[in-house]
Amino acid sequence: MKKSRSLLSMFMVLVLLVTLNPAFGQAKKPTKASDLVAVDKDGMVSTSHPLASQIGVDVLKKGGNAMDAAIAVQFALNVVEPMMSGIGGGGFMMVYEAETGETTIVNSRERAPAGVDPEMFLTDRGSIIPFQERVRHGNSVGVPGTLKGLEKAHELWGTVPFKQLVTPAFQLAQNGFSVDRQLALQIENNKEKLALTAASDVYLPKGEPLVEGDWLIQRDLAKTLRLIRSHGSKVFYNGEIGEALAETVQEFGGSMTIDDLRDYNVTIDEPVWGEYKGYTVASMPPPSSGGVFLLQMLKMLDTFELEQYERRTTEVYHLLAEAMHLAYADRGAYAGDPEFVEVPMVGLLHSDYIAERSSLIDINKVNEDPQPGDPWKYESGSANYEVIEQLDEKDIGETTHFTVADRWGNLVSYTTTIEQVFGSGIMVPGYGLMLNNELTDFDARPGGANEVQPNKRPLSSMTPTIVFENGKPLMSVGSPGGPTIITSVLQVILNVINYEMGLEEAIKEPRIYTNNLTSYRFEEGIPIEVLDSLKTMGHKFGSNAELIGNVQSIYFDYDNDEFHGVADARRDGASIGFTHKGKGRGH
Ligand code: GLU
Repeated sequence: MKKSRSLLSMFMVLVLLVTLNPAFGQAKKPTKASDLVAVDKDGMVSTSHPLASQIGVDVLKKGGNAMDAAIAVQFALNVVEPMMSGIGGGGFMMVYEAETGETTIVNSRERAPAGVDPEMFLTDRGSIIPFQERVRHGNSVGVPGTLKGLEKAHELWGTVPFKQLVTPAFQLAQNGFSVDRQLALQIENNKEKLALTAASDVYLPKGEPLVEGDWLIQRDLAKTLRLIRSHGSKVFYNGEIGEALAETVQEFGGSMTIDDLRDYNVTIDEPVWGEYKGYTVASMPPPSSGGVFLLQMLKMLDTFELEQYERRTTEVYHLLAEAMHLAYADRGAYAGDPEFVEVPMVGLLHSDYIAERSSLIDINKVNEDPQPGDPWKYESGSANYEVIEQLDEKDIGETTHFTVADRWGNLVSYTTTIEQVFGSGIMVPGYGLMLNNELTDFDARPGGANEVQPNKRPLSSMTPTIVFENGKPLMSVGSPGGPTIITSVLQVILNVINYEMGLEEAIKEPRIYTNNLTSYRFEEGIPIEVLDSLKTMGHKFGSNAELIGNVQSIYFDYDNDEFHGVADARRDGASIGFTHKGKGRGH
């Protein structure tokens, strides 16, 4: 007995060494297709990093709910996917609460500091400062909201002590983990930006980018997480982390002060709702353009009975592109932070307006001049801003989306970001956290709905969404990808509803994105002859395919009482679920 116990403890030590010691941690487990998809009865977590999914499911297994797990996942992603999201950024956490049947959003979008100037992204001569310069400047950094958002979500729904939800992330930062392909790739891609700030010590030790399989310990970030575990968000918003953060932003030329952090508040938002083919869609309202234009595109496309055409045909991509052009024209004209501007939500989704807009789509030819319409005709009120052409070449970021479901039927759909990959590239020295560049989501040229103003939130495209059938959640969906997000979510929903694809197939299906006649993207898998015929029609698809978005999603299979989790194969994420032995789901 004694002997077997000591053998057991030797084994445990070995397991610990293998997990924690850099020397043992070199080999990377390749992501198997099966890691991307999971089917289980009692809980499901789907994120773009296996370690974060595992942490989420551990919370669920110990009895936490989906909201507890989502909080732990966000902290974990801050450590293992530090280039995509974290407490230096903001996000939209959509929660379906099974007990009340309510869907609520914790909106932790970054806000502009009090000291911003609407012209801060223009040169003295009035031209727009190039995007790569704007991104790295302290003026791009919005007052972060994520930590307050997590605390708020915990206050509303948490059942596990907050500290316990921080601990796994703290341990990962303290003990380290093996750098995966995505992190290594992004460090390499962003090394110039990172080299300018304290981030270089962490991600470019001795001047060289970390590579896949390197062991990454983030001591400063661990310290920050330890402080948060002990003191909650006040150490960030009104304490030493906030002081250091504001000081760093100022060093990079920004105006942020500790008062901006002190004054920061999240909002609790209601989704924008829409009906589509008998399903009910809950999505993200302004300050995101996501929900309203997702619904607008769905409704415009509904007029054309898309499913009469095979999925990968010229007709389908043409109709998609035309609907996108019209929706993005309106987006540029009418969308902004509703605390500051009037967004004509009723008009934009009014059935007569949709009919008017749809009539501008011709199945046989490209609309050469997709202009914004006038949704104000269909709602009382008027715009307190102008339509300002931006002519701004912005890079499209790709940050992160994840989703969690629990045995009680709660569901979280959470898109979270620091805007570009590695945000502004600015790290707060001594605290290990990356700062967002979310304020570049404002228009560079002032005067429009989305101009820079103190305390305002920049227009987002993040589209965390839940689709309901007969009043019960059917699936969660969402994606990163800046303005492409709305179209990724759109195409996954169309694939499931119009084309009756399974979730995995729906997410795999190649996507397109276009927001006007000069900007087009497409993914591999679209038949060459179809692309050629689209080009002949006048759609300016280029010659190189590129990845669009990264959708994590959970589907509720009520027939078999199961959750289907799918992580997007475009990255190396993981869906991990669990089923209590001998028990069915408790709802
Ligand atoms: N900053 C982008 C937005 O709010 C999100 C970036 C991303 O997740 O790709 O729309």
